[in-house]
Amino acid sequence: MTYDTKNIFAKILRGEIPCQKIDEDEHTLSFADINPQAPVHILVIPKGAYCDWADFAANASAVEMAAFTKAIHRVAKLTGISKTGYRVISNTGLDSHQEVPHLHMHVLGGAPVGPLVLAKSQL
Ligand code: 5GP
Repeated sequence: MTYDTKNIFAKILRGEIPCQKIDEDEHTLSFADINPQAPVHILVIPKGAYCDWADFAANASAVEMAAFTKAIHRVAKLTGISKTGYRVISNTGLDSHQEVPHLHMHVLGGAPVGPLVLAKSQL
């Protein structure tokens, strides 16, 4: 998949669209999801141009991978959800219904987050 530089998170990274920033470092940016699915719903993204988790896992450097993992951990601590538990999800590819083609981890918490996936009958 070719990276689409016009995707909404690329625009957020370039400062063309605002976001409610939670955390930032050299390799990552974390901000509140515009349509939260839990009391705390943060998106953690790499600054590098990676379409999805598969692209990142195959092509990111070890430094970028470490920074991404640490950013998720930091966000959980900053928002307080590390105390009560949280879920980390990344949609990748067609079956997952990924909407924005720039890798993002959803970090969800602040209340019980329910079953991991819909029952087969609801798909
Ligand atoms: P996906 O379905 O690709 O895994 O998730 C995309 C997420 O991006 C959704 O949860 C959606 O609410 C969020 N989102 C879409 N557009 C924007 C935006 O402009 N700003 C922010 N903060 N979140 C967005």
